[in-house]
Amino acid sequence: MSSPLHPVAMPTNPIGPSSLSSSRLAYGCWRLAETESRAEEVGRPALIAAVEAGYTLFDHADIYCAGRSESLFGRLLRDMPGLRERITIATKCGIRPAGMPNADAPYRYDASAEHIVGSCEGSLRRLGIETIDIYQLHRPDYLMHPEEVAAAFDRLRSAGKVREFGVSNFRPSQVSVLKKALPFPLIVQQIEISLACLTPLEDGTLDQCLVERLTPLAWSPLGGGLLGGGSHKLLPAQEAYEVEAVNIALDATARELGCSRAVVALAWLLKHPAGIVPIVGSTDPVRIREAAWTPNVELTRDQWYRLFAAARPSRLP
Ligand code: NAP
Repeated sequence: MSSPLHPVAMPTNPIGPSSLSSSRLAYGCWRLAETESRAEEVGRPALIAAVEAGYTLFDHADIYCAGRSESLFGRLLRDMPGLRERITIATKCGIRPAGMPNADAPYRYDASAEHIVGSCEGSLRRLGIETIDIYQLHRPDYLMHPEEVAAAFDRLRSAGKVREFGVSNFRPSQVSVLKKALPFPLIVQQIEISLACLTPLEDGTLDQCLVERLTPLAWSPLGGGLLGGGSHKLLPAQEAYEVEAVNIALDATARELGCSRAVVALAWLLKHPAGIVPIVGSTDPVRIREAAWTPNVELTRDQWYRLFAAARPSRLP
């Protein structure tokens, strides 16, 4: 299939200390392909909507929909000549599902060189590309040897298989440990941050992003849907999020600004000086287009703090 693409331009920013760039919001491919038929019926139209709405950073992981999200994306790249050159592709490795490759294998993290290199090759094959733009460790492996990771990354970079590297869900101290072993900079830190999850504002993660020039990529920027129109699937920790008060405050700001609650929640992230890039996870073309409007909305300091106060469990000191 070749589709006439007329992408709308979204503002872009450089990613970390690299020559790569990203649209102000990224698009996340986690929910696209729970089954093969959903990949074609829901995932493909969602991706086309994201491309046309001007998203230029696409986030994957080897485990998303057991590899089907990457395979779907690979088919789209084949069907749309010229798309690859216009976008930035990020993927991740390091989480290994239970039962793979042996029936009794536990759910675990794996930052061994063997797993990093093997998983990267699998992602390249499914995506059908020569080089991954940003390769991220999905979660910090408790058994990670920084020098071993550095050697694996170096090998992938020297072989032209990866341009730049990043991490996800690392504590600031874990970023520092890995950074010390690497001969080149990390460029992204992918974290859960939203008005439903404020931790990175308080634990030094965003401060470190500012100091180290790591671009923060925000996963679940709508709390998995809790700050939008509801959720299909939450991660276990998200089940406990209490968002009633913040949703009331979001609705009030949305009325002031004449936009949707979701756009206000995303604009709240864009306001932070670290240059947070929210990763939009909707599979609905209407919502994907709506979210792309967010860079046109600028919250005032008062609006930002009103939402922050509503989201916090206690009053600001
Ligand atoms: P999200 O944007 O917080 O949640 C998306 C979910 O919210 C979808 O199920 C969507 O349903 C629903 N939703 C309800 N109202 C919405 C609205 N008005 N606008 C948009 N969506 C609305 O993000 P997420 O999907 O949880 O995560 C986004 C991306 O982050 C993932 O695709 C993945 O790339 C990345 N991620 C990374 C990690 C990590 O550990 N690094 C973990 C989780 C996710 P519809 O599809 O029906 O719109």
